[in-house]
Amino acid sequence: MKDSSVKPNLRPRTRAVHAGTRRSQYGEVSEAMFLTQGFVYDTAEAAEARFIEAGPDEYIYGRYGNPTVAMFEERIADLEGAEDAFATASGMAAVNGALTSMLRAGDHVVAARALFGSCLYILEEVLTRYGVEVSFVDGTDLDQWRDAIQPDTKAVFFESISNPTLEVIDLPAVAALAHAVGARVIVDNVFATPVFSQAITQGADMVVYSATKHIDGQGRCLGGVILGTREVIRGTVEPYMKHTGGAMSPFNAWVMLKSLETLDLRVRAQAEGALAIAHALEGQPGLARVIHPGLRSHPQHALAARQMERAGTVIALEIEGGQEAAFRFLNALRVVTISNNLGDAKSIITHPATTTHQRLSDEQRARLGITRGLLRLSVGLEDPQDLIHDLTTALAAARVG
Ligand SMILES: *Cc1c(COP(=O)(O)O)cnc(C)c1O
Repeated sequence: MKDSSVKPNLRPRTRAVHAGTRRSQYGEVSEAMFLTQGFVYDTAEAAEARFIEAGPDEYIYGRYGNPTVAMFEERIADLEGAEDAFATASGMAAVNGALTSMLRAGDHVVAARALFGSCLYILEEVLTRYGVEVSFVDGTDLDQWRDAIQPDTKAVFFESISNPTLEVIDLPAVAALAHAVGARVIVDNVFATPVFSQAITQGADMVVYSATKHIDGQGRCLGGVILGTREVIRGTVEPYMKHTGGAMSPFNAWVMLKSLETLDLRVRAQAEGALAIAHALEGQPGLARVIHPGLRSHPQHALAARQMERAGTVIALEIEGGQEAAFRFLNALRVVTISNNLGDAKSIITHPATTTHQRLSDEQRARLGITRGLLRLSVGLEDPQDLIHDLTTALAAARVG
């Protein structure tokens, strides 16, 4: 294996194509998929030596590491500006691994309330079962963070842009409050994407992604990744992940690795489409609200512009007339598909109240702004004009009904 790490002075798009590449003795152009759970040793002594300490690019077992997975980890770490990364079986394995690997009974965590349903489950149901105390705050209110973060707080957790209502959290400000008491900042950065965000530079100690979303970007594989310093990833995260079994498969790692080559092009086109659609829809009859951080009407528009290069690829729409009108609208769409993934090349729309956030109580949903008329639109790679036509035609149909 030959490690052909890229030179540090190259720009991100170049690095996203080359970083982390290893070539076997065959000199393949496209990165190889090492679909193997284990590795052979020349001698018994060599096996013993590797178990004592595996050297760079020496592997033992698929749950601990794999050359294709390592290529993905190195490339995404390079893109994120992180020292190291651990790839996981799904985004939730990443969120769970980041939190559980570093917490123990008696620790205190502060989290934003507006979270993806499964993230909320880990914080509310799993961590508390093992004696971790969790305080929830309105993530957009710095005073609430200031009050909740205590001298003994171990970690803060939030989605930099929340799912599905697209609240933007002031990452540097929350990180400063957390770091003042020595707490670690863990950011779920899915909606911001590694292309538009500089979460580590802005103060995140650990960044997690669901690679299922924009990183795959074509709806094929589940995956996730935890990024941070080498010390945290290899010292805290890896021992936990390798013994609890949340590793990414080499097949999925190969898909994700190749997808990083096109990530920048895809998310820029999707973000451009999302902004055009948000502008076209804002103020249309039948829509109570169009929520997108790139719109001036978004409450954290200025913060979003400061914190992210682009406002992301997702829009939330509030249809007038509640669930009935929302369903009429969904059923009238011809190009946008009803599903619950996001970041995909195909535009996808979800009714959170009856799907992704169904588990929450009416009161919880009300507090998060997830009304019966709210829809989450993930903008894909189709021509934005076709999407605008599809959405406005369906809006008219929803009003007539
Ligand atoms: C989808 C998602 C996850 C979970 O990722 P999976 O790959 O589905 O496990 C976590 N956080 C956010 C913000 C997400 O959108």
